Amino acid sequence: MKPLIIEAYPELSELGAFRVLKGTLDETSYRRGAEVLETPDGISYDLTLTNTGEGILLSGTASCTAHASCARCLAPATLEISGDVEGYYSLEPVDTLEGYEQDEFDCLDEDGKFDAAGPIEAALVYATPFVILCKEDCKGLCPTCGADLNEGPCACDSSDDIDPDNPFAVLRNLKFNEE
Ligand SMILES: [Zn+2]
Ligand SMILES: [Zn+2]
Repeated sequence: MKPLIIEAYPELSELGAFRVLKGTLDETSYRRGAEVLETPDGISYDLTLTNTGEGILLSGTASCTAHASCARCLAPATLEISGDVEGYYSLEPVDTLEGYEQDEFDCLDEDGKFDAAGPIEAALVYATPFVILCKEDCKGLCPTCGADLNEGPCACDSSDDIDPDNPFAVLRNLKFNEE
């Protein structure tokens, strides 16, 4: 994702100061592992930044309409995704904080800026269902003949009414070795 650079100063210089940021990122997709979810309408965010004294707390939501393929039937699936954005950026440079490793902590850069794109993407990834389906009760494809079972039963799983001319009718007479 393209960076969303936020400047903490001067508005967030004081303890307790906060700032609300809303907008839409002009991003047409995000990734979860090898999977690409298309977001043609962009990614909306509604963030609150608060100076907690030692750092800037980032909280809020990120949402989008995502398009992907159904894991069962491969038809297009449309999902409304909304996730909680969380982040924390130390006001002190990390190497002056005792007891913390560099990579355990985010901090503001020298100019008092940070990039909120990472936490926004993380919120979407976390909110994306593990198995993406076109509808909750998608019946998927027949593993034998590949028919879309949402459009009705295929020849393989019905023992009656099989048209003998159906090229798949023969499959019903196949005997599998019993274990
Ligand atoms: Zn499906
Ligand atoms: Zn079938």
